[in-house]
Amino acid sequence: MKCPFCSFEGTRNATHGHLADEHGEAVRAWAEEESGRLYYAVKCPLCRVEIKRHLKPRWSDPAFITEFWPEIKLVAFDQLLHHYAWTHSTERGGKPPDEHA
Ligand SMILES: [Zn+2]
Ligand SMILES: [Zn+2]
Repeated sequence: MKCPFCSFEGTRNATHGHLADEHGEAVRAWAEEESGRLYYAVKCPLCRVEIKRHLKPRWSDPAFITEFWPEIKLVAFDQLLHHYAWTHSTERGGKPPDEHA
């Protein structure tokens, strides 16, 4: 599938790896001050929808954002590819994305 950010095109896995390598700046992760809960978000470059998710409970320590940043990027870009495939591509598959934007 095509990279949502540039002209790169490859298998879903190749595009997924390419996103993490080349477009990591599209992902952000933070701890919410009141709750201490961790979130990550990735912005779709085409429709500007921000896909925001709560990080898994085992990632409840803000230090994990640094430690697991490569994993967080992969998880976030997986959501983005799902959104992209469903919303912006004819290569649809699976369930529609569950967006909170
Ligand atoms: Zn790209
Ligand atoms: Zn989009």
